[in-house]
Amino acid sequence: MKIKEQLKNLKPYQPGKPIEEVKRQYGLDKITKLASNENPFGFSKQAKIAIQNSIESLAIYPDGYAADLREKFAGHLEVSPKQIIFGNGSDEILQIICRSLLSPGKNTVMATPTFPQYRHNAIIEGADCREVELIDGYHDLEGMLAQIDKETAVVWLCSPNNPTGTYIKENNLLAFLNQVPSEVLVVVDEAYYEYTQVDDYPETIKLIDQFPNLIVLRTFSKAYGLAGLRIGYGIAQSSLITQIEPAREPFNTSKMAQVAALAALDDQQFIIECAKKNKQGLEQYYTFCNEQGLFYYPSEGNFILIDFNRPGDEVFQYLLERGYIVRSGNALGFPTSVRITVGTKEQNEGIISILTEMLVEKVAN
Ligand SMILES: *Cc1c(COP(=O)(O)O)cnc(C)c1O
Repeated sequence: MKIKEQLKNLKPYQPGKPIEEVKRQYGLDKITKLASNENPFGFSKQAKIAIQNSIESLAIYPDGYAADLREKFAGHLEVSPKQIIFGNGSDEILQIICRSLLSPGKNTVMATPTFPQYRHNAIIEGADCREVELIDGYHDLEGMLAQIDKETAVVWLCSPNNPTGTYIKENNLLAFLNQVPSEVLVVVDEAYYEYTQVDDYPETIKLIDQFPNLIVLRTFSKAYGLAGLRIGYGIAQSSLITQIEPAREPFNTSKMAQVAALAALDDQQFIIECAKKNKQGLEQYYTFCNEQGLFYYPSEGNFILIDFNRPGDEVFQYLLERGYIVRSGNALGFPTSVRITVGTKEQNEGIISILTEMLVEKVAN
């Protein structure tokens, strides 16, 4: 079979072990998964009602243009309906971007470590990936600029960055956008936008009028708590959206996802409360790290990367055997860290008490 050469070196996404299997293996009654930055508080009750009401219409195809959601959303974001592209998760938008702009001979610039799907999709399209090391956990914007040449088609910025939780400050983003050649697309992935609290986090959508080469990606999977439904979106100038739309599948977002997103949008109180509780959860981890002298990056997301000065896989395993699934930093480019999704207050306390025990054992040994 004439499979593309570049696929041979790519691994499919590795899903975690099924929870039931882990329970059996370690004799646990309960497992708490805080590994994929899902919302521990679930999703809006209003979205639940909308989903239940949509069941009757599942025999027919969804509106491929998502007109109702689009209209509502445009009002919410103060953009024109033509400036929005919806995807089966923002994962699909970045796939559409890669299909539309990348091919052999082109290159794309991104940070490392960052969200792995930029690289993954770019490789499938045969583009050359130029990865620029983070500096102290932050995007090296100067270094990224230096990698841009005539063949560069796309630059990726992840802010807050997964897995570090660090963000790009407004003035730095603006300076960067002013220096990128206008024929190079800049993707700003803001999957954790709703969680951000700092004053100098940019309102990137407001910059779109100024920069025809800017697209902002956001999602309903994280703060909105609808990861299982798969819906995300991109915002850019309408001319850019029009150019990439042909790469989108006609019915890429489901009816259920559309109605749930529409209802979830109406429940901003839910988002505000989740962001507030997330901030308090982060404080629990900061206190723990400061007491234990552990290095961490201050996070604007709903997760925290903590360096334990020992293999992340070991810390992962220690927590797993005691009922908590987190993400080892080993596969994320931080071999001595783990990335923990901020949970409920009780879940965070649970993890912190186990980690405290682990650190005591370490001293005892
Ligand atoms: C989770 C995540 C996404 C993907 O979100 P979906 O909308 O569920 O596809 C994209 N970018 C980053 C940085 C993420 O962490």
